[in-house]
Amino acid sequence: MAPAAAAAAHKPTGSTITATTPSALYAGLGVKPVINAAGVVTVLGGSIMPPEVIKAMEEASRYFIPLPELEKKVGARIAELLKAPACMVTCGAASAIAVGTAACLSEGDLKKLRQLPRRDGIKYEVIQQKTHHSGYEHQMELCGAKIVVVETRQELEAAVNERTGMMFFLNKADPLGQVKREEFIKIAKERGIPTMNDAASDATPKENLFKYTEQGFDLVIFSGGKALRGPQSSGLLLGRKDLIAAAYPAMSPFAGIGRGMKVGKEEMCGLLAAVERYLKVDHKAEWQEMEDRVASIRAALRGVKGIRTERHIPAIANEVPHVTVEWDELSKGLSWRQVSEKLLGGDPPIDVRRPAKGKLLVSVWMMRGDEHKIVGRRLKEIFSA
Ligand SMILES: *Cc1c(COP(=O)(O)O)cnc(C)c1O
Repeated sequence: MAPAAAAAAHKPTGSTITATTPSALYAGLGVKPVINAAGVVTVLGGSIMPPEVIKAMEEASRYFIPLPELEKKVGARIAELLKAPACMVTCGAASAIAVGTAACLSEGDLKKLRQLPRRDGIKYEVIQQKTHHSGYEHQMELCGAKIVVVETRQELEAAVNERTGMMFFLNKADPLGQVKREEFIKIAKERGIPTMNDAASDATPKENLFKYTEQGFDLVIFSGGKALRGPQSSGLLLGRKDLIAAAYPAMSPFAGIGRGMKVGKEEMCGLLAAVERYLKVDHKAEWQEMEDRVASIRAALRGVKGIRTERHIPAIANEVPHVTVEWDELSKGLSWRQVSEKLLGGDPPIDVRRPAKGKLLVSVWMMRGDEHKIVGRRLKEIFSA
């Protein structure tokens, strides 16, 4: 290959995913693909894997390998790339919460690990700020954890006792909590309690992948199938060497609490390829593309009476450009529920998750090809009718 061609061959693919022809596979199953105007949400399939990831999964699928050895090698490689002390691939962020909790509660003692979820002799209490309620508490509870909810710094300090096994932090909830991350980490460190930070959806900007372990969280979690565009059923557990070592035997293929959380060789290699790509990809170009889609949707809606659009970037979690569309439900005679039903009822269906009263938050992040144009057009039709 000529040097230029060789360089091009090693260039990571961008996020421009060309919209493909209608899927015979999904049609045969009677499942209708949607335009994703919701972003990287698990319930719509997470993200779309780029060719590098599919290629790695396909190659991985053709061989037998000792799975525990592959898990360790892939973990070590990702840890090196993300400058974390250690890493383990899990089958999603939720599974990382479970095996990470198992590691903290069992403190590296295999006997204790095997006894979970029974609490005898275990440090089973997990402290969590009320505002950091995540909806993923079950993942901790299945290990036997008892969640202790606190609000103030005083309550947090008073809650620590000889049964405290872990302190849980929901990264995106930091602005809401009374105890901010630095203080949270400090309190935990002074008392020798391991901290877990769930940053599943917060891998943008890419610096975040490095940031939270650096801040001092003992365990940090990311989804593999969200911003990273790895396999949907993959996740990252990053952090302290001893805790990651304690988490390995908690998961498949070993018997115990995480035996049902199997990570296949394809997911391991796919997630590694996704991380490698994510670190190399031109994030500025991707950002610009999202800005263009945002501008295009806003332009399509300009002049439609009674609605306001805005460019919106969440301060934390899914930190990419979105469009908000706001209107007065009464004067328009349109509720957010009706708008979202009309969007879903069209062809192709458009899925906007979590609309609120008089407000839609349209994510352009996972749109493919010219889908943003269809979204702009449909919104205009609905709001002009
Ligand atoms: C998406 C998400 C999860 C679950 O991630 P999976 O990879 O689907 O298991 C956990 N926590 C938060 C904050 C999330 O956003």
